[in-house]
Amino acid sequence: QIKPTYEPLNEVTVLEVVKALDFFEEAALSHLHVKEIGDGNLNLVFHIEDQASKKALIVKQALPYAKVVGESWPLTLDRARIESEALLKEAESVPHLVPKVYYSDRTLAVTVMEDLSDHLILRKGFIDGHTYPALAEDIGTFTAKTAFYSSDFYLHPFEKKEQVKRFSNPELCKITEDLVFTDPFFNHDTNDYPAELQSEVDKIWNDTELLREVSKLRFSFLSKAEILLHGDLHTGSIFVKENSTKVIDPEFAFYGPAGFDIAHFIANLALNYLSQNAHAKEPFNRESIQLYLLQTIEKSWDTFTETFTQLWNEKSTDPYAHVDGVLENFLQKTFQQAIGFAGCEIIRRTIGLAHVADLDTIQQKDVELFYKKKALELGSKLIKNQRNITNITELTDWIRGA
Ligand code: ADP
Ligand code: MG
Ligand code: MG
Ligand code: MG
Repeated sequence: QIKPTYEPLNEVTVLEVVKALDFFEEAALSHLHVKEIGDGNLNLVFHIEDQASKKALIVKQALPYAKVVGESWPLTLDRARIESEALLKEAESVPHLVPKVYYSDRTLAVTVMEDLSDHLILRKGFIDGHTYPALAEDIGTFTAKTAFYSSDFYLHPFEKKEQVKRFSNPELCKITEDLVFTDPFFNHDTNDYPAELQSEVDKIWNDTELLREVSKLRFSFLSKAEILLHGDLHTGSIFVKENSTKVIDPEFAFYGPAGFDIAHFIANLALNYLSQNAHAKEPFNRESIQLYLLQTIEKSWDTFTETFTQLWNEKSTDPYAHVDGVLENFLQKTFQQAIGFAGCEIIRRTIGLAHVADLDTIQQKDVELFYKKKALELGSKLIKNQRNITNITELTDWIRGA
């Protein structure tokens, strides 16, 4: 144990953690370069490098509070344990898609992991107009494998229930319950949107059919312990390089409904799709990137179903696995719920507490408002039409139509 009790680390004390590991050469320890690179709302992220050998690692530490709308709320340090354990669990089935964990410390709420500074955060890559050929297959594989191997279709029921306990994450789930499934659908002070959107927002708050569907999605999120989820799979939790994808930041991991993660990925691609033309700096349009985004949505879902189906056929322990229609029903229900979850994510990223840079950094106010209205319309339509959209190309048609 490096410290007897928790204390927030700084660029000096973080070296005590690093020195207790066997990562850097002895001779490098006296002149390591340390920089805090996190955005500081929930966690500290230190980049520590030996500039001679270029070897580096990351120390991520949870803070005992979250800064929200200028205020500090207490927030459990247990999320650092969840993050470390989720990264290790994910590495059992998709080691190439997550950062390696070198060390973790529950007292300090610390995860020491592989440095991925040669990668870029996907949201930024998309806004800057880049595309990534391996992304769709990687995210489809990530979501399918982590889903199947954590589910009752594979695990012994005793083991599954142990895992549900281990990944019990009530405080972070409560944040999602409130910020994704509740606050944006009512007049709540955490909401954040320009006054010009009030009539669109009123439409959402007064749409009984919509609210009924959101209440069902929220109840699923609360009660369905189907698979181990990442829990926060937006494009800010994905690091990319030309042919490499790494999923980071699983502090929201918990057992929940199977469509939740891929829905968040799809929703964030849809939000980026809407904003593409507003970010084009030269007078060229971004139709080819928009086409890529829709193809990526399609291919990630297709990879999810193909990979899940293959694992099911080869490895399912479910006594009904061979019965015609059982897998198809599961996939169909998962798809329809994913459409609903994606709709909620699109709405909350537009009018809720935490926005996305894709829409918020649009320079011209009227253009920003135009696309935010489109986002609210699309989100509402997806939530209300979950059962009318029967396959992934119908979904991308709806996004194109927005
Ligand atoms: P938070 O939970 O506070 O959002 P993240 O895990 O998302 O923390 O990390 C915040 C930022 O720190 C990332 O956007 C990225 O810039 C940097 N970062 C996090 N993990 C790594 C890593 N393994 N390698 C390099 N940079 C990282
Ligand atoms: Mg952050
Ligand atoms: Mg993050
Ligand atoms: Mg996080």
